[in-house]
Amino acid sequence: MYSELNPTQRILMGPGPSDVAPTVLRSMATPLLGHLDPQFLGVMNDVMDMLRQVFQTENQLTIPMSGTGSAGMETVFVNLIEPGDKVVVGVKGLFGQRMVDVAKRCGAEVITVEAPWGRAIEPSQVKAALQQHPGVKLVALVHAETSTGVLQPLAEISQIVHEHEALLVVDAVTSLAGIEVGIDKIGIDACYSGTQKCLSAPPGLAPVTFNQKAAAVIANRKQLVQSWYLDLSMIQNYWGNERLYHHTAPITMNYALRETLRLILAEGLENVYARHWTLGGALQKGLEGMGLKLLVDKDIRLPELTAVTIPDYVDDATVRKQLLAQYGIEIGGGLGAFKGKVWRVGLMGYSCNQRNVVLFLSALESVLKTNGYQAPVGAGVAAAMENLQK
Ligand SMILES: *Cc1c(COP(=O)(O)O)cnc(C)c1O
Repeated sequence: MYSELNPTQRILMGPGPSDVAPTVLRSMATPLLGHLDPQFLGVMNDVMDMLRQVFQTENQLTIPMSGTGSAGMETVFVNLIEPGDKVVVGVKGLFGQRMVDVAKRCGAEVITVEAPWGRAIEPSQVKAALQQHPGVKLVALVHAETSTGVLQPLAEISQIVHEHEALLVVDAVTSLAGIEVGIDKIGIDACYSGTQKCLSAPPGLAPVTFNQKAAAVIANRKQLVQSWYLDLSMIQNYWGNERLYHHTAPITMNYALRETLRLILAEGLENVYARHWTLGGALQKGLEGMGLKLLVDKDIRLPELTAVTIPDYVDDATVRKQLLAQYGIEIGGGLGAFKGKVWRVGLMGYSCNQRNVVLFLSALESVLKTNGYQAPVGAGVAAAMENLQK
């Protein structure tokens, strides 16, 4: 016999998933509705309406796709790309690399523009790529590169992309509801996100948004979308006025998304962004106060995901194991070349609060002490608090 499932309460401070608010969890324990029940149609309308507000867009085509953030990535690429299309992808970490992989599978001719992990793509690089390769259909960039903690500036690149009559595609999986994405303000033509980062719902839905220009590209395709499941020309008929069955919507996940969007809008987007910037900044000051080095320069450093260099002689896995066992705190390890070299500390959505900043800095101090790194006693918390009281 199996025992009843009874997971330990964790504090999720890794690169996602983040902690989920009690009312979001509770929403998932409410009765199921059918996917065509008039009450569920109301839930769908609320979700689309609130997603537009959080994306800061008027885009009609704004819906949650079934699947995690990667399904959002595939949705944007499979619907916009046809075989032979030229696509520029910015690669400065794992998720840029994943976009290259997905675009290639769509039959695109992929031109990569690269920056070292830990840095951002420069507008001049995008400009050079577009000048060298006439007729590029879209340029894709990761806004918040979760593998490194880099914030990719978008405004100048957006102008360049549109001067060359290409579409701007943005991965906002870790930026949406953490820092401003501003779809309409920046002029992003298509964008996708995921529910388990700063949106703080469980993993399982991928909000996407397309403006009219991008929607027209989909409507004027010559070939069918290679993926039946992610084909927006059909899915739009379910989320649009026709309410035509395509696949069964993940009902409970939509309850959770609706509730977390409601909480975000009740707090106010500007307040949500300010909370991430203030507490992320405090955490970073605290880590520096402990004598640790941050991977990313301040001007392109994300508040919701901080990569911190692991001191020499300190074992990555041991520290993370102890944080989890002794304090219930989960943080992430490094990826790629940074495996064993950095920790990735998340302060996303519901996890982004002052208690977690102070607790994490104290816990890290004590765990590091038993692993051969002695930070000045209380220096981390003191530096963080100084930053908070300013
Ligand atoms: C997490 C993440 C993804 C992938 O999302 P999954 O939910 O893991 O499929 C894509 N892009 C970025 C920037 C991410 O942080």
